[in-house]
Amino acid sequence: MQFSRVAEVYESIEATTKRLEMTDLLADLLKHASKKIIDKIVYLTQGRLGPTFSSVEMGIAEKLAIQLVARTTGKDNTEIQMSLTKTGDIGETAELLLAKKTQSTLFKTLPLTVLDVYDTLDKMAHTSGTGSMERKMGLLSGLLARATPKEGKYLIRIVTGNLRLGIADMTMLDSMAIAYGGGKDARNALERAYNISSDLGKVAGILVDEGLEGVSKFRVSLGNPIRPMMAERLSTPEEILKKLGGRCMAEFKYDGERVQAHKNGNQVTLFSRRLERITEQYPDAVELLRKHLRAEKAIVEAECVAVNSKTGELRPFQELMHRRRKYGVKEAMAEHPVSLFVFDVLYADGEDYTLEPYSKRHSLLEGIVLEGERIKTAESLLVENVEDLKRFFKRAVEDGCEGIMCKSVNDDSVYQAGARGWLWIKFKRDYQSEMIDTVDLAVVGAFHGRGKRAGVYGAFLLAAYNQKTDSFETVTKCGTGFTDEDLAKMKEMVDKHKIPHRHPRVESMIHADVWFEPSIVIEVLGAEITLSPVHAAAMNSIRKGSGLAIRFPRFTGKYRPERSAEDSTTTAEVLGMYQNQLRKLKGSTQDKPTRS
Ligand code: AMP
Repeated sequence: MQFSRVAEVYESIEATTKRLEMTDLLADLLKHASKKIIDKIVYLTQGRLGPTFSSVEMGIAEKLAIQLVARTTGKDNTEIQMSLTKTGDIGETAELLLAKKTQSTLFKTLPLTVLDVYDTLDKMAHTSGTGSMERKMGLLSGLLARATPKEGKYLIRIVTGNLRLGIADMTMLDSMAIAYGGGKDARNALERAYNISSDLGKVAGILVDEGLEGVSKFRVSLGNPIRPMMAERLSTPEEILKKLGGRCMAEFKYDGERVQAHKNGNQVTLFSRRLERITEQYPDAVELLRKHLRAEKAIVEAECVAVNSKTGELRPFQELMHRRRKYGVKEAMAEHPVSLFVFDVLYADGEDYTLEPYSKRHSLLEGIVLEGERIKTAESLLVENVEDLKRFFKRAVEDGCEGIMCKSVNDDSVYQAGARGWLWIKFKRDYQSEMIDTVDLAVVGAFHGRGKRAGVYGAFLLAAYNQKTDSFETVTKCGTGFTDEDLAKMKEMVDKHKIPHRHPRVESMIHADVWFEPSIVIEVLGAEITLSPVHAAAMNSIRKGSGLAIRFPRFTGKYRPERSAEDSTTTAEVLGMYQNQLRKLKGSTQDKPTRS
């Protein structure tokens, strides 16, 4: 397939704000891809060369891209910089300048194919050592010289990490189902395969090669991270026990970083909640797992928690930030050691346990984790009454935990990879305060700052995630709680995700000055939740024409880099919090919630 076809489809996708149209455009592109290139198209469309966890980075900075465009078009850096100031996008600048050049060149070159593009980018990404930058530039300018202006635009956007087509994983699965599975009904089988492999390209490849039957034979495999299971929330022990059938396993909810460890003999790989490789950040955790996991091959999940090096006391999540750096991990390890609390096992010695009930997984876990000072299974207790649950919760909080996780022990208590469901219910400390609970929201838009805040954003439009529709619904506008430093940092972070119009997956009645692809997640504390005609969250659930809004939101100072936008608080959770607040209000006064 020629790359020009791909570039054309990208352009049409970019021009639409309609999700269905996007899905069909993509389905049509996939339908015409051969077995050999389908995975490559899937990766390229997500702006990558492989799945998230493969960590093959193209990493071409804008500065280098400018040089590259200069080299290919014969323009000087200043001219390119001037164009860039106008367009604000190095891809568009490349397109403009390549168009000028094409007009002045008469000879024709061979058209670029998808394979040409993928293979060259892959080669470039794997080039390292002395003189590698020059070799990378050589490879890229070779490609760019053969590209049409439109192809050039997308090539440059891909290598600089600016493609931002905003195609959600679920949209990609829908498109695959339409193209090869006979329609959207095939989505479930594809989704399961994706949830246990985290590799859309691999799923697409098998779908084209072996059909849905091949996809349904997908099994968990070492090295492919499993998409994490997530919890719902409830705010009283009574509701939790009722929901779980009167009995559950309560576990401490540690406040650290979730890691999924894949052990293969002596080799241990750690994946973050966002499925990125984080092995290098935690050499101490790797060592603990190597020594204390009594299985040759295993996949376990654990919470990695910072501990006080002198007292062994648990420290809050924020202290793990010291590990997010390339250099100096050794020093960070000495100053901020970690403990591991293992809470699930998904695979052991050739057996996939994801579809086994909790109790089976739990007893296996207790059998394979050899406890030590720094590694333990999560503290747990089988509870059958509210009093025990309350007591256990109190103990968890006293021990420095955020709260507890209550897990179903019924026969159907499988590990729901990639899903947030009612088999796990969290119960956190904050639910008991006067304020509503903290929420994690995705930044979908921003408003320019004025006066003291000129040059940065003065407020952000934040959204909760609607799992059912796979979209982001605005729930508040937040400009409080940010220090000057935060505002500068936020601008730098969100601008990387700037797009020219509202994202197709964002539902908003408010017009932001600037729009973003949902990607950055921050923690916010609000005073109350009210009905609102201007916010889209849980629209029409309580009253026709009204959504829910969080009033008086304040940024807590916590960035949530470990979360993807889909890990934001869900609209269903916001609705639950609203109902809970109503119940509390009714309990104390007869006040009605205010409208905003
Ligand atoms: P939340 O991030 O508030 O949705 O809560 C879910 C997170 O709690 C998981 O992603 C884990 O990182 C963390 N966690 C801590 N302890 C446990 C546990 N015992 N079981 C499951 N998750 C836990």
